[in-house]
Amino acid sequence: MVAERIDGKAFAAGLRGQVAQEVARLKEEHGLTPGLAVVLVGEDPASQVYVRSKEKMTVEVGMNSYAHRLPADVSQGELISLVRTLNADRAVNGILVQFPLPKGLDQQQVIETISVVKDVDGFHPQNAGRLVAGMPGLVPCTPLGCMMLLKDRLGDLSGLNAVVIGRSTIVGKPMAQLLTNASATVTVAHSRTKDLPEVVRRADIVIAAVGRPEMVKGDWIKPGATVIDVGINRIDAPEKGEGKTRLVGDVDFAGASQVAGAITPVPGGVGPMTIACLLANTVTATCKANGLPVPA
Ligand code: NDP
Repeated sequence: MVAERIDGKAFAAGLRGQVAQEVARLKEEHGLTPGLAVVLVGEDPASQVYVRSKEKMTVEVGMNSYAHRLPADVSQGELISLVRTLNADRAVNGILVQFPLPKGLDQQQVIETISVVKDVDGFHPQNAGRLVAGMPGLVPCTPLGCMMLLKDRLGDLSGLNAVVIGRSTIVGKPMAQLLTNASATVTVAHSRTKDLPEVVRRADIVIAAVGRPEMVKGDWIKPGATVIDVGINRIDAPEKGEGKTRLVGDVDFAGASQVAGAITPVPGGVGPMTIACLLANTVTATCKANGLPVPA
């Protein structure tokens, strides 16, 4: 069997198109232009790429993008003060502070300072709690994007066995919660899990969010399963020339493609969905802030 390739890039382009329509409608009917503030501290090369891409797409869907670049040696107090200013700024509907922060800065304090209603990354404990309680709130972008791809392919997820590998607060835990809310039977695996291959073999849905290149092998996958690879790992690619690198996921794509029913590639799978969901969350935050219904 050769698995269907889940085209996250195309799906994300469609989602951005819907967001652009919503933005146009908000402007026309309510005179509102959603605004997303992105804060980048330091000069981590990967973070710079992500932030540039987020800013570009924010403008492409018709929203305002407010960029804030701070030096790596900024104090915690200055960073918190910027977040408070953005909290109070009516033109800003969403605030994203790019993580990881340089050493010495307290990420958790930043997360907890961002206004719950502008928390478009969905990392604030109140939004995390709302997700657990099954209440509407802002949901972390990467798991939200994974759910959209899963529902698009599988429709109703109820009763399906899902294994989420990884239990981080930004991917694994919210992913498991969303799957639970969708009535899947969920197992959360992590570095202490015993006999991971056997656990994964039971899964109709596999979500790999580990950060280990090609760790999940083809013979771990149940025939016909749907595999969502969240991992983004840069590895050496001597075949492309000296010093060259390439991106791979947490799943051995070639091996898993022989067994799975469908699989997301890396790049071109979950990555583009994350940014599209960030834009969708900014529209949600704008609607809520103005007492308007949130688009479906
Ligand atoms: P974290 O490092 O925060 O979490 C990794 C998780 O994997 C932990 O729960 C850890 O377990 C678990 N783990 C580590 N080693 C093993 C192992 N050998 N077997 C089983 N589980 C293991 O990573 P993130 O959740 O932040 O990110 C995961 C991956 O997703 C990374 O590659 C990251 O780059 C990528 N990512 C991609 C995004 C996208 O847009 N596509 C967005 C965000 C992340 P334990 O808790 O026991 O330590």
